[in-house]
Amino acid sequence: MFYPFPASFPKATLGKLAKLGICSRFDLVLHLPLRYEDETQLQRIADLAPGTNAQIEGEIIHSEVAYRPRRSLICQLHDGSGILHLRFLNFYPSQQKQLAVGKKIRALGEARMGYFGMEMVHPKCRSASEGTPLKQSLTPVYPTTAGLPQATLGKHIQAALNELELPDTLPPALLKRLRLPDFAASVQLLHNPPPDVSEAALAERVHPAWLRIKFDELLAQQLSMRVHYRKRRSRNAPQLIARNQYTRQLLQALPFALTQAQQKALHEIRHDLEQAHPMQRLLQGDVGSGKTVVAALAALQAIENGYQAALMSPTEILAEQHYLKLRDWLAPLGIEPVWLSGSMKKKDKQAAAERIALGKTQLAIGTHALFQQPIEFHKLGLIIVDEQHKFGVQQRLALRGKGDEPHQLMMSATPIPRTLAMSYYADLDVSVIDELPPGRTPIVTKLVSDARREEVFERVRLACKEGRQAYWVCPLVEESELMEVELQNAIETHRQLSVAFPELNVGLVHGRLASTEKAAIMAAFKKGDIQLLVATTVIEVGVDVSNASMMVIEHAERMGLAQLHQLRGRVGRGAAQSLCILMYQQPLSELARARLKIIFENTDGFEIAQQDLHLRGPGELLGARQSGVPMLRFADVSADAALLASARDIADEMLRDFPAAAQAHLQRWMANKHDYLHA
Ligand code: ADP
Ligand code: MG
Repeated sequence: MFYPFPASFPKATLGKLAKLGICSRFDLVLHLPLRYEDETQLQRIADLAPGTNAQIEGEIIHSEVAYRPRRSLICQLHDGSGILHLRFLNFYPSQQKQLAVGKKIRALGEARMGYFGMEMVHPKCRSASEGTPLKQSLTPVYPTTAGLPQATLGKHIQAALNELELPDTLPPALLKRLRLPDFAASVQLLHNPPPDVSEAALAERVHPAWLRIKFDELLAQQLSMRVHYRKRRSRNAPQLIARNQYTRQLLQALPFALTQAQQKALHEIRHDLEQAHPMQRLLQGDVGSGKTVVAALAALQAIENGYQAALMSPTEILAEQHYLKLRDWLAPLGIEPVWLSGSMKKKDKQAAAERIALGKTQLAIGTHALFQQPIEFHKLGLIIVDEQHKFGVQQRLALRGKGDEPHQLMMSATPIPRTLAMSYYADLDVSVIDELPPGRTPIVTKLVSDARREEVFERVRLACKEGRQAYWVCPLVEESELMEVELQNAIETHRQLSVAFPELNVGLVHGRLASTEKAAIMAAFKKGDIQLLVATTVIEVGVDVSNASMMVIEHAERMGLAQLHQLRGRVGRGAAQSLCILMYQQPLSELARARLKIIFENTDGFEIAQQDLHLRGPGELLGARQSGVPMLRFADVSADAALLASARDIADEMLRDFPAAAQAHLQRWMANKHDYLHA
């Protein structure tokens, strides 16, 4: 099924093809046209409308090299109805010869109105004697690279199409039900569209042949993730029985009752933990929906069975908060978590590692340092990963252990539209907490131009006077070249606000601070010693200070919607009415305006994500570059949601009823891909 290039294939071409991602002859088959040119008919020069593509046949009646305004070849083409000017800024002697006076040619290009009348710039020209037949079908135009002409690439593709056997990987019964065309026929059609094909359907990629290709791609993605899911299911994990010992104690001690949604998610997790194969579950819940307590209860179930649990967070601030909260919750049960982070002193780290390795602690909380050498667990039963989207698939998979595997619970507050979740998390089970704890007052969002900064100051002053606390967020886009400048901005803003509010204690926290400093500032804010906290986006995830009921975000127009939603979720945690002021700088681009409108009008994270998906497409939403999920080349999870849904169903059905076909399909589509699932 994997068709390598024959040894006789020209080496130089191989290198160029590799640049296009073409590493096998099958890849040639899947190198689909970018667009098509219509060489099936001829137009008359007299009928040419500016701005349209056309093919003209005629005789060169004049040819000259002009030197002003710059060196160029200018020819006049005459077809009996009129004269068309052809202009070339770069040209070779061979072209000059082809376009010499008296030659009959066909020129294909976009007609436009030039200084001398109707003209084409750099048209595609070929010699044509009287009676040369017109093309029977649209001419594909392929994405290509320097030194690899269209014609050569096209020839290799045609050869692959003719020589390869392309048996269908989908069983006929499924194809019929899906009402999709044959695979071989589909690629044939896309490379050699018949004369009567709808050009629009090809361009918009809604032609059945296109649907088939996109479906196959989605199917391969679903299959590979489902295969991975099944593989993990066939491994062994400790059965962690719900003994209701510690868990009941914690539930009784909590000052609140679990919401329905929390209970349902907990129920699913408890059931998973009792199984003899590793849990691989994603717990999704909007910011503030109460995932932490569910995670704590899951950890307790592991501990009740004599196993250890580990809770990993993407940032130290967040990890530390978890640590403090869980330490309080679990102290009455006689359970003392251990804290571990990368920035700890070597001696302390060693001590923590030793407690973990000797089984002296049942719960380890920290950053990804928890899973770096030389940390070894005594008896790890459950790994909990908070804000897992910050880690990405690679790390998700790297957490796999040897021998008996720990169960895994991933948590995410990034609401992902259902269609996208289906594609991205096909290797996981998903629980959703779709309800916020009671007693929260909704957050009021205001959009304020930067020019009205003084008014914003007044509101902050008022809120703090009433004993409330506020965040002042200055965006700091990581990886950006502006990072230093932005950091300076935050420092400058802190200085400004300190001057503006002499009566307040104004704090500053940003990513460059040492973690002990960060922790000290967060603790002071939590205690109320700091009333106004200037922060870069380090507070984006998980920070929980319920008395903070106001947030000002500067340059909201620069931030992603998911990020804004996360940030805004930091307030509105107590019973007090919360306010989020989004400041923006004029002038706003169309896109920025549309995005601010979405965040202004919506508080539901899923709704925001759905609209964001429409606005920007999936790549940005997921930060797919970091995620490690192979990008889709043909399908678009937003536009092709229906195809995706059926690909997911068919994937399961194929693995169950047609395992050989499933294998063949994976082979065909994934054979030469770097398979991240084997990482
Ligand atoms: P997130 O899902 O964003 O991680 P947290 O777990 O931090 O949310 O919970 C947010 C706040 O809500 C915490 O202060 C937590 O103690 C509180 N909380 C969690 N569950 C409930 C509940 N059922 N009723 C009331 N408050 C709750
Ligand atoms: Mg959280």
